[in-house]
Amino acid sequence: MKCRHCGHKLNHLFADLHYSPPSNAYLTSEQLSMPEIYYPLRVQVCNNCWLVQTEDYVKSATDGLFDDNYAYFSSTSSSFLEHAKNYCEEMKTRFSLNSKSLVIEIASNDGYLLKNFVGSEIKAIGIEPTKSTAEAAKKIGINVIQDFFSVSLAKKLLNEGIKSDLIIGNNVYAHIPDINDFSEGMSLLLKPNGVITIEMPHVMQLIKHNQFDTIYHEHFSYHSLYTIKKIFEKYGLRVFDVESLNTHGGSLRVYGCLNNASHKEESSVKSLLNLEKKQGLQKIDTYKNFQPIIDNIKTNVVDFLIDKKKKGKKVVAYGAAAKGNTLLNYCGIKSDLISYVFDAASAKQNKYTPGSHIPILNPDKIVEIDPDYVIILPWNLKKEIKEQLKDILDSNTKYVTMIPTLEESS
Ligand SMILES: [Zn+2]
Repeated sequence: MKCRHCGHKLNHLFADLHYSPPSNAYLTSEQLSMPEIYYPLRVQVCNNCWLVQTEDYVKSATDGLFDDNYAYFSSTSSSFLEHAKNYCEEMKTRFSLNSKSLVIEIASNDGYLLKNFVGSEIKAIGIEPTKSTAEAAKKIGINVIQDFFSVSLAKKLLNEGIKSDLIIGNNVYAHIPDINDFSEGMSLLLKPNGVITIEMPHVMQLIKHNQFDTIYHEHFSYHSLYTIKKIFEKYGLRVFDVESLNTHGGSLRVYGCLNNASHKEESSVKSLLNLEKKQGLQKIDTYKNFQPIIDNIKTNVVDFLIDKKKKGKKVVAYGAAAKGNTLLNYCGIKSDLISYVFDAASAKQNKYTPGSHIPILNPDKIVEIDPDYVIILPWNLKKEIKEQLKDILDSNTKYVTMIPTLEESS
C-alpha cells in the first residue's frame, strides 16, 4: 500500500487491532443469527510525510453496513452544539464576516453549525452526502448541496461563480480517503483572502494518552500539524494559526489560507511544530512503541473483568459509542464479562453491540440491574456520566475507565 498523501511505500505498522466489524453496525436480535462481516483494522505510518492512516481493505460486495441507517446526527450532543455556536461567533468577529460574505461548510451534517448563520445576513452553503442529515438541515432552512466534496464538485461550484470567505471542515478530514483531492478542492473555492478552518483529532494526543480506541474504519487518517502543513503546501495553502481543543480527547483547529493572502502567521504554528518534534512525531520509534502499550491495556482490561467474574460481581458498561466498540472488540469481550451496555440514544437501544454482542438498554433500566461496576466507555464524558449515575445508583457502585490506563473510583 502507498501513502494516501505522498505516495511513499508504507512499511511501518502503528497499530494492529486485528479484525473488527464497522463500529456503528449495531445488530438487531434477528441479525444475531446471521453471519457478521469483519474487516481488518490496521493502521500504518508513512515515514516520509508522517501521515498515520488505516490500511486499505476490500469491501464485501453485499456490504450495506456503512449506509444511511447509522448516520450520526451532530445535534444529539449538547456540548457539540455549544462548541459550534462559540466557533461561529468567533469567526464572525475575527474575520469580519458580513452581508457580502459566503461561508461553506463541508460535511454540514444536520445543520448543527450552519444554523448559527440562518437569519443573519451572512450567506451559508452546506455540503453533505448523507441524505438523512442533509434533509434535516434543509428543514431548518439551510441551503444544502447533497454530495461528496471533491475537486470536481469545487469546479462545478466555481463555474456557478461561487467562492468562499470561510470554508469549514470540522471533523471531516479524518473521514475522507482522498485528502489530497479534498484539500485541493478547498483551495479552489477560496476567495483571495478567504480562510479555511479544519478540526480533527490530534495524533499527538492519541499517542500520548493511549487513545487506541479512537481508531475505527470510518477514520482513514490521523493528523499532526506537521503533516497537515505539508498537505496544505502542496495545494498552494499555508497554515497561519492553530489552536488545541479539548474535543474528542484532544483536537486541533488549523487555520489555512492561500499563499498570497494577508493573514499573518501566528506564533502558535511554530510552537506546536516544535512541540510535535519534541514528542517524537517525526521518529519511527514513537510509532513503533505504540502496539506494546495497546497490548498492555488489553491484558489489564481482560484481567480486571475475569477477576470480577470470578468474584461474582455484576459488571455493566455505559455509552455504546464507536470508541467503546473498538475497545470491546480488540479485547475480545462478550456478554459473559460485561452483561449490558446502557445508552441514551433510542436508535441503539434493544440492539446489540457489533462483534461483542452485548445487549444495549435504556439507562432507566440500570437501577434494576444494580451493578457493582460501571465501565464508562466514552472516557471523554466520564465526569458528566458519573455525576448522572451517582444520583441514581447505590453508593457502593464503582466506576471504571480503561483509557489511558485502567482506573477505578467510587
Ligand atoms: Zn506519506
